[in-house]
Amino acid sequence: MNFVDIIIKKRDGGKLTAEEISFFVKGVTDGSLPDYQISALLMAILLKGMDAEETAHLTMEMANSGGMFDLSSVEGFKVDKHSTGGVADTTTLILAPLVASVGVPVVKMSGRGLGFSGGTIDKLESIPGFQVDVTEEKALQFAKEKGIVLMSQTDDLTPADKKLYAMRDVTGTVDSIPLIAASIMSKKIAAGADGIVLDVKCGSGAFMKDLESAEKLATIMADMGRHVGRKVTAVISGMDQPLGMYIGNSLEVMEAIEVLKGNVEGDLLEVSLTLGANMLLLAGRVKTEAEGKELLMENIRNGKGLEKFREMVAQQGGDVNIIDNYDLLPLAPVKVEVKADRSGYITKMDTAMIGRASQETGAGRMFKGQPLDFGAGIIMKKRTGGAIATGETLAIVYSESKEKCDSAAVFLKKAITIEEKQAEEQPPLIWKIIRQED
Ligand code: URA
Repeated sequence: MNFVDIIIKKRDGGKLTAEEISFFVKGVTDGSLPDYQISALLMAILLKGMDAEETAHLTMEMANSGGMFDLSSVEGFKVDKHSTGGVADTTTLILAPLVASVGVPVVKMSGRGLGFSGGTIDKLESIPGFQVDVTEEKALQFAKEKGIVLMSQTDDLTPADKKLYAMRDVTGTVDSIPLIAASIMSKKIAAGADGIVLDVKCGSGAFMKDLESAEKLATIMADMGRHVGRKVTAVISGMDQPLGMYIGNSLEVMEAIEVLKGNVEGDLLEVSLTLGANMLLLAGRVKTEAEGKELLMENIRNGKGLEKFREMVAQQGGDVNIIDNYDLLPLAPVKVEVKADRSGYITKMDTAMIGRASQETGAGRMFKGQPLDFGAGIIMKKRTGGAIATGETLAIVYSESKEKCDSAAVFLKKAITIEEKQAEEQPPLIWKIIRQED
């Protein structure tokens, strides 16, 4: 097979066969295809798209490019969750222990932050001692003993995605629906859970900016998972402002713990409960979403969710004292308050730009492999729709230097729109839930 012919076919809008897609993924995995040809095909796919059949072939070839995690020895219906990426989205740290605390095992492989969006693995690594690299054998042991493991993807899982993801990041080919769908679902399928809840973010701080594209991505991914025998629910949730109030790695760990302690209400709690309840529904643990939310709330109130979080931190070598003493978590030394320079109402937030501000503090990466400042980040003080007076604090920025804080502040100010009149309507927090029977 001549790979140039495959590139030209897609460039001209043609449909790739299963054999051609297989040739591509094998060439990516074994290194026989040069980067420039891979990039050319990725760009052709971004520009010309792929239909459902091509996307399914790409997903399965990628899922099969390495080992598959076999969870069959863990008793019960195993659930997983995946977010397409957002800002201050700490739901995994909240819902994984909560769901596990009601007896549904959660085995979740997570990723690192990419661009403006944060990553669970980076957040967990901000806990002193916490080990994210867990062997399959250990992961199975944790899942059997405690019903929970949050870990980074093992080396042999979907090597094709690792290579393609890195190339997409530097070739302007990240925001393609078929490429995102194949990347996410190949990993989820290979990670072995029986049920998957997809949190497809929609809004200014997400890859999908509007409901139509979010719904398209959600439907393709859900269909793909079901096609290979997994139960899938896709929740389309809003990302038109940071989900929580804390952005940054140790800061998000603190906020997640505060939610588990029952001290925080609002959007972060609501999305965590919605996703968690849908995980319980998939597992057959509850009959309705409302019942699931109530069960999870009960385990916030009685402390069982927090206890499960503690068990997870302990089993993975982390310092559990951070739960009762946040001073043991890193926090950057320089702090700058960002104040409103006019009064009015906050009518919108460019959430990707707030994520960009967080990158400036050192909490997010500008390039792959960049070491992070775990103690850097932003505490938001306001939400969209609220009134603000001149000189009132919009956010507090933490970084290692005044320069970094100031440059984050520039992005933050640009990101937050203050107008005289209140906006008529705010976008919903939960746009839509796509369930199997729908
Ligand atoms: N998350 C992934 O895992 N892959 C993508 O392509 C985008 C978001």
